[in-house]
Amino acid sequence: MTTNIQPSLLPAEDPAVRRPPRVDHILADYRVIEAVNRLGPSLVKAAIATRLDECRQGRLSPADVIPAVIAALPHTATRLQRVINATGVLVHTNLGRAPLSSAAVEAIVSVSGAADVEMDLASGRRSPRGLSSRSALAARVPDADDVHVVNNGAAALALVTVALAGGRSIVISRGEMVEIGDGFRIPELITSVGGNLVEVGATNRARLEDYAAAIDDTTAFVLKVHPSNFRIEGFTSSVEVDQLATLGVPVVVDIGSGLLKPHPRLPDEPDATTVLRAGASLVVASGDKLLGGPQCGLLLGDSELIRRLRRNPFSRAVRVDKLTLAALEATLTGPEAPVMEYLGREPDALFARAQAMVGIVGTDLAAAVRTVGRVGGGGAPGVALPSAAVSLPQDFAHSLRTGHPPVVGRVHKGCLLLDLLTVPTELDSVIAERVLEVAAKNET
Ligand SMILES: *Cc1c(COP(=O)(O)O)cnc(C)c1O
Repeated sequence: MTTNIQPSLLPAEDPAVRRPPRVDHILADYRVIEAVNRLGPSLVKAAIATRLDECRQGRLSPADVIPAVIAALPHTATRLQRVINATGVLVHTNLGRAPLSSAAVEAIVSVSGAADVEMDLASGRRSPRGLSSRSALAARVPDADDVHVVNNGAAALALVTVALAGGRSIVISRGEMVEIGDGFRIPELITSVGGNLVEVGATNRARLEDYAAAIDDTTAFVLKVHPSNFRIEGFTSSVEVDQLATLGVPVVVDIGSGLLKPHPRLPDEPDATTVLRAGASLVVASGDKLLGGPQCGLLLGDSELIRRLRRNPFSRAVRVDKLTLAALEATLTGPEAPVMEYLGREPDALFARAQAMVGIVGTDLAAAVRTVGRVGGGGAPGVALPSAAVSLPQDFAHSLRTGHPPVVGRVHKGCLLLDLLTVPTELDSVIAERVLEVAAKNET
């Protein structure tokens, strides 16, 4: 019986038609040429090899090879993917921390070729590296006499240790010997570059007298570290910066999150301006947390200390590149960074967005719910940010993460929550489309 064979499958019976296309023919196709120009030959050739195998095994018809090659290619020449952060965690370290503003992205693109990072174009002579970015930072924190920028917060701490301690001791409270994530601990970081720590106080309490007793003529500075990812409650005390500043040695304060000024929604989060006014000699912070910029480490404060940091040979090992300098400057001078915009979002407006999305994907599948977002990534550990989410069946999580663009939510009590606190509004429709796509796939 041949009556139920579909006519479109008939040509495959002809061996000449089933033969896989030749690689040089595939590479001559205009769509493939375009892909090679964009992504380079090795990614494209790998995709061709995979599809030709499928064709030889009879799983792909010869005519479909080129469209299948094009469909299998990555969107960019990196396997790192742009992701929609629907976790409700503003600064998500596993998702690359702060999302950059469009001004910062534009700045990165514009300097990605040759750029005047160390040249004064008016005179044609060499100029100090990243001067304009440093000026932009200094302008935002007038209480800092000078500033310096390195690769990240940890690099800033390492540079401070190498350049300012150099064998002499660093006095630190036991309650501030914190782990900053992924097993990395600040005391271990400091000792790994030769720092000699002198611990004072107990885990929950330290007093000014404890510090005073530990300070002698081998002390380089007192280090105060903001416990940025946890809170100890109950019988606790720590010594504030204005008190430490009376001890007669420099006070270096690692504030972690990179707030430059106090923020009304984050009353317990230290900021560079307040800490400098309280008498800190030097403030250390990350650029990609609450500042909302690229990964970098900020050092602000006393100009003589900054000069010593800059002149130390180790500073070359933690030097920032032009892309970082450009993005940092644009973050500081441009429109409000997304992190700050998200921090100010109203829960009712977020709930209305969630309801609108539920209207698109259907109430049989989804519900709008009130949620609580977090700052995350080493910042404001106690702060709850009222938010709203689209709630879906938990088994949507994997498909939403693995499609394009990946959507990452959080699973809570058997549901997948897509929290809108951290989602740019213009991506709501993209998320709704992805949800509908997964729902359709689940039905078949
Ligand atoms: C995040 C953090 C660091 C580390 O900064 P990176 O920029 O991640 O290197 C150091 N100290 C504190 C208090 C932090 O919160």
